[in-house]
Amino acid sequence: MMQAVVEEQLSGDVSVIRPPMIQPVDGWLESVWRQQVEAGHLPLRRLLGRVAERRLWMKVIQEDMHGQGGFSLIQPAAAAEQALRARQQWLMWGGDAEDKSQRHHFSFDNDCATFERWCSEFTAQLDSNAWATRADIYRSLLTVPIESKISIVLCHVLQLPPLTHQVLNHLGLLHQPVAPETELFDPLVTKKFPSRRAESMAVAKWAAQRHRDNAGSTAIVLLDFNRDRPELEYQLRQEFDCLGARYAALPVNFSSGMPLSKTPMFRDALMALRVASAYDSVALLRSEVLALLRSPFLHGGEDLDGIALLQLRKACTDLTSEHIDKRDLNHLAETFAPEAHLTQVFKTLRTDRSTRGKRLPSRWLDVIRSVLRLWQWPGRAALDSLEYQQFERLEVALDELVMQDCITGELSFQQVILLWEQCLDDRVFQPKTEEGAVQVFGPQEVVGLRFDALWICGLQSGLLPQRPQLLPFLPNWLQRHLGLLNSDSVALEASAVALLNSFRATHGEVRASYASEHEGLEILPSHLARPIASDDSPTQQQAPKHWPEPSPLELLDEGNVVVGDADIQWGGGASLISNQSNCPFRAWVSHRLGPADVAAPVFGLTPAERGNIVHDALRFTWEILKDSHSLRAMNATQIESLTRESTERAVQALERRAERRHCNVRKRVGSACLDLEIQRVAALLNSWLELEAQREGNFSVIEQEDSHELTLGSLILNLRPDRIDQLEGGRQVVIDYKTGAVHRSSWLGDRPSDAQLPLYALLNDSVEGVAFGRVHQEGVEYVFLGEALGLGGKELPLEDQVKRYEVAPLESWEELRRTWRGRLERLADDFVRGHAAIDPQPQACRYCALGSVCRYAQSPELTEEASTDLGGGAS
Ligand code: SF4
Repeated sequence: MMQAVVEEQLSGDVSVIRPPMIQPVDGWLESVWRQQVEAGHLPLRRLLGRVAERRLWMKVIQEDMHGQGGFSLIQPAAAAEQALRARQQWLMWGGDAEDKSQRHHFSFDNDCATFERWCSEFTAQLDSNAWATRADIYRSLLTVPIESKISIVLCHVLQLPPLTHQVLNHLGLLHQPVAPETELFDPLVTKKFPSRRAESMAVAKWAAQRHRDNAGSTAIVLLDFNRDRPELEYQLRQEFDCLGARYAALPVNFSSGMPLSKTPMFRDALMALRVASAYDSVALLRSEVLALLRSPFLHGGEDLDGIALLQLRKACTDLTSEHIDKRDLNHLAETFAPEAHLTQVFKTLRTDRSTRGKRLPSRWLDVIRSVLRLWQWPGRAALDSLEYQQFERLEVALDELVMQDCITGELSFQQVILLWEQCLDDRVFQPKTEEGAVQVFGPQEVVGLRFDALWICGLQSGLLPQRPQLLPFLPNWLQRHLGLLNSDSVALEASAVALLNSFRATHGEVRASYASEHEGLEILPSHLARPIASDDSPTQQQAPKHWPEPSPLELLDEGNVVVGDADIQWGGGASLISNQSNCPFRAWVSHRLGPADVAAPVFGLTPAERGNIVHDALRFTWEILKDSHSLRAMNATQIESLTRESTERAVQALERRAERRHCNVRKRVGSACLDLEIQRVAALLNSWLELEAQREGNFSVIEQEDSHELTLGSLILNLRPDRIDQLEGGRQVVIDYKTGAVHRSSWLGDRPSDAQLPLYALLNDSVEGVAFGRVHQEGVEYVFLGEALGLGGKELPLEDQVKRYEVAPLESWEELRRTWRGRLERLADDFVRGHAAIDPQPQACRYCALGSVCRYAQSPELTEEASTDLGGGAS
């Protein structure tokens, strides 16, 4: 157009020409209004942006609802958007809020009457605060006297609201517009695809091929831009191989850009800010949390694929709930990634008070910046071009909040983040791309441009022409009277035809397409289209080019599989020998067949979980104390703090183990239950350490739960004693913690019911004593075998300690060990030989889960009393 104007001027008798100024209509009118305000011809007002205008509507609606009292189904946010649109359309299409004859029609409908009330208050707020909307500044321009009018030519403007037209006429001499015909010569040939995906794939393939062939400028028009953009962008990335490392290298320019809030960098910043909100109860969507954990912008360059963060992501993925409570997220982070940057951030945020209270939006800016700094946003030292362009918009985006002060009043941190998200929604990010890139437009944006080839997507019924749709807050009569475009099917039809004609007139090749089905529903083509079957419908999704080729299937020959082996090397833990001793059948079922035990449901923690907490808490305590010197050097307060910390660690360890089995203990039993357990166990440990401090002589803890192998006949056992203490002089004593009843008798006799400590006694020659450490609410004590161990109580000679339970006297520790070895090897041999008799020791059946397998309680030789004693007849 510029060229045409210059040529026309040159053809005349002129020596100097002035090139025309080409501007978008609204942008130019806004600049004229600013000039008039600066020149003092119009009163000083602030032009509200869309977010501010919407907030003002919300404020008016909320105050009106409070004033009216009672129950209301109105959603202020949605109503604000509708009200904004209604007032704008009303004024732009020639309506007049002061015209009584127009306002009279509002009283016939409740919604319209309510809107009219809101509208009066909205206008009053604008006037009292010296604010204005776009329609208001256009109306004010009509009051300015214009002495010399400039020439205005409208190029390729399909439809202008009457008010805009009126203002342009007032400001300048409006020449015959250069506009496309509004009569359709013949329908546009339109390819029919079976789905939107197939349509997008075909378009992307076509555009990429043209780009590779250097075939001239290429444009794609999406008639429903918001709906179709994500799929098309994905397919274009696929075609240009820009899904992975080359993400920022996509040679495609999306004209409408993307809301800043949806760009990965700002999306992650908003998420980080939401997590920082002072309210613990904030629930985050699981998908958002996973995006947060994967974000390259929030972890200060940490390896996102490190094992800890991977485990944390897996734990979050495994949660069954769609929402993740912030407290749960904190807990999972401390469990799986205690050293990770984000866990440190959570810790800092927990004690941070800066996000509490209410302030004006502008007073939150420093807090927002400091929270983003804490997260180390934007993270990477070397941002790519697109990221850098986004990052540069931070301060401008924050300035939007300053403008909201006078509208919103004081807000909480949570509310201000929501408001900022709305501001970012309305701020479009348009990346600068290489020249010659494929251009993607919405339908109106391509008018007046010229491309060698253009493809129109989505030429379906209802999109072009659009269906008439009445606005809810304006009386139907008024909408028709004013000729609002959305209410007039004839005008919409003419506008659609003009659009297609404009495409045909200005672009080299014009293609069109539509998808004939969506989610099982048939879609009809636009009546402006002439559908034809598509011959290039790539329905199969291709794998990205950088993916490796799938491996060929491998066939295994079943004939080589060996079934059964007589030379199996059996092994197990101490429980194998204990079970063999208590009941050979139990050992055979448990350790050869290995059926999984189905635990009975319990409320709160199971006895095993409670036992584990005590064991772990003691282990953590002695990891710090190490010996009797340190213990005796501590005062009561220090001991209490140590036991509390150890118990908390033990509970965390329990939760970690459960997470690995995809269970969540905290969710199952509740935080209060765990807190109570911590109190209980910490108190128990205090009593236990008191007992330890009273032991005779010095000792040091030289081992805790270390693994040992012990060969017993043809069995290899894996043993993990709870603890081994070294006494003065180098003698050792093995200690096993018990939280239930303990008896010295369980180690002695031909068939010891608990073979654990006798097995531990065989580990090395320095072990000269074994002891149960009974850590129980009713009392703490050592029950031991051995001489001069200093474990408290009356120390009898070994012979006296064992004589009640042994037939033959055992006079020395060495003799006792030899006896134990003989008995235990015999039990091991029995097991290996397959000795599996149902031959339980007294009490063995009481806590055995295999009663329904062995049917021992139903054996005819058992008396009724004995059967009841076994647990009521296990079945
Ligand atoms: S219930 Fe008694 S007899 Fe049966 S397997 Fe268990 S211990 Fe052995």
